[in-house]
Amino acid sequence: MGKVVVVGSFNVDHVWTTAALPRAGETLSGEYATGPGGKGFNQAVAARRAGADTAFVCALGDDMGGQLARALAAADGIDLRGQRSERSTGTAGVYVDGEGRNSIVIGAGANADLSPAFIASRRDLIAAADVLLAQLESPAEAVLAALRAARASGVITLLNPAPANAVVTAELLSATDILTPNETEFSALLARHVGERIEGDAVAALDQARLHALCRELSPAGTVVVTLGASGCFVSHAEDVRRGDDNAYYRIAAEPVRAIDTTGAGDAFNGALAAAIASAPDAPFAEPIRRAGRYAALSTERQGAAASMPQAADVQARFG
Ligand code: ATP
Repeated sequence: MGKVVVVGSFNVDHVWTTAALPRAGETLSGEYATGPGGKGFNQAVAARRAGADTAFVCALGDDMGGQLARALAAADGIDLRGQRSERSTGTAGVYVDGEGRNSIVIGAGANADLSPAFIASRRDLIAAADVLLAQLESPAEAVLAALRAARASGVITLLNPAPANAVVTAELLSATDILTPNETEFSALLARHVGERIEGDAVAALDQARLHALCRELSPAGTVVVTLGASGCFVSHAEDVRRGDDNAYYRIAAEPVRAIDTTGAGDAFNGALAAAIASAPDAPFAEPIRRAGRYAALSTERQGAAASMPQAADVQARFG
């Protein structure tokens, strides 16, 4: 079994479904549901259910949200290492209207306290992993410390540069082996680091050679995987680091499924990709990419984020 360490956020999601999104001054009634969220936790659940021995490094408040995180991680067999914070556990308030549009407010809370010192105290855990997976709902300096600790021990580093408004520094990019932006995040990275203005919804239509050239500018020595929703993903490797693939760049189509809720598809993809690489680090890279695509596709047939992460056996039963 491959070993994955996920460094990232945990939130308690509060979701109200209303006929229309509330406007300033308006009071509405709606259906309410609550559950776990945060990109870090979602990706840890995906990595674990996709078959990896998974640890989750995060920061939690000393409150009911923190207890929920510990209970849910234990139920899934995830080794949670939580830095204790004076602030409340992270939260997200989500309104969803009748057409599936949403407005979200995130209260980072304890997530904002995750520190380089706590990461340093978990150096041995990180060094024993096959893959370190991080996102940017936690402080950039803590994420950078984790990527660098992994690098120093020869652990493969995977960074999902999400959310799109996170500041992705050059240091973060150069400490990353495999970068996995979606179209919006890719567009933001190009604007910041390459000086190219390409709208997110124009990315999928770009010529593959052009996409490859842009990925090479962004990450000259690494691999970039641009996820394209129902259009699958695009993979681009540095010329001398092809990770067992014959081609330096290629596109892989998404699995045909009846998607009912794509929330968390990106988290499913990242967690499953980390698990697949960890279980077979020497396999041609297209293989983990296909496994992650199947895993993420199946997650879209279920409602929710962490709750919609399938078990490896369900993916096997569906796609063989
Ligand atoms: P989200 O923010 O909704 O969690 P994302 O924008 O980060 O997702 P996407 O690019 O939408 O990430 O999806 C990640 C991967 O999930 C895709 O590369 C694809 O493999 C799979 N996927 C997403 N949507 C679909 C779909 N409708 N059908 C099949 N596969 C899908």
